[in-house]
Amino acid sequence: MNMDITLLEIALEDQLTPKRVAATNGGEYHSPCPGCGGKDRFIIWSENNRYYCRKCGKSGDVIQYFRDFHGCSFKEACEKAHIFPEKKKKRYFSQSTVFVPKKANPPTPQWQFHASAFIKSCHIDLINNPSTVAFLKAREFTIDSIKRFQIGWNKNSFFAEWLGEGFKRKIWLPKGIVIPYFKGEALSKIKIRRTDWHSKDHYPKYVEVQGSMAGPAVYRSDLNSSVLILESELDAMLVQQEAEELCSVIALGGASKKPDKDTHAFLLKAPSILFSLDYDEAGIKPLTWWKKQYSNLIIWMAPFEKSVGDAILKGLDVKTWLSLLEYKKR
Ligand SMILES: [Zn+2]
Repeated sequence: MNMDITLLEIALEDQLTPKRVAATNGGEYHSPCPGCGGKDRFIIWSENNRYYCRKCGKSGDVIQYFRDFHGCSFKEACEKAHIFPEKKKKRYFSQSTVFVPKKANPPTPQWQFHASAFIKSCHIDLINNPSTVAFLKAREFTIDSIKRFQIGWNKNSFFAEWLGEGFKRKIWLPKGIVIPYFKGEALSKIKIRRTDWHSKDHYPKYVEVQGSMAGPAVYRSDLNSSVLILESELDAMLVQQEAEELCSVIALGGASKKPDKDTHAFLLKAPSILFSLDYDEAGIKPLTWWKKQYSNLIIWMAPFEKSVGDAILKGLDVKTWLSLLEYKKR
């Protein structure tokens, strides 16, 4: 978009004093949020002209910024941003009302080549590392599941040169539990649950390795059974370990993630969708959106604890929990 004013300039004018913290997306800046304050919760990606508040969740472009924080109407915001509304109006309005799922492109062959070698060596390292095996066993994973899902252990953070199409920089592979996702046979995504993460960390606990497919992880897409929607890949694996035959499982990989084109089409045809994101603010917030998209959605939160994974740790019998649905349907 051809903007005359950049978000960074507006942030400076609004005296947010954004500080450059990373080169991600052409420059990432942190500052207090103009809506809810704080210290560094507000992120601006300068090249894309996008912002996001990690606390209140507000996000958008220059126009949305004026609407969110300057109390502008859409028209006023366009004027402030020097954008002629008549030209952009249609696109903006259609964006906010109709969900148009994006196609999730598979990773490049080069990425898959390097990533496959990485997860293989991490898997061997995990199997040979008793304390990491113990960590997963303490979370109810069996050795068979660890092997089946090829979970791995990356013992040192490093930057990999899996440079290829679309990559300008090296790829960060943080230390932690390596969680690959295969779409069919193809390695399509890697998540890493960082073991050196701390609460003041600038980066998330779960890192999606750059170059991964953007869509959610669909572990089984069977149109004869219900589809359980979870937040985390690890929880999705556990449910499959416990009750694979009872439902299809989708891990969004984050509460605010939306389905891609293929997953959306699948969900529309599914007999029922069991919505089971984590029972916290981030997990509850998207519920309205999901209910609006899918009339076949049933709220099916973990009966106790915050997430299905935590509930399994506290003794939840997944099979019984899922078969309760049959009673509810009658
Ligand atoms: Zn905020």
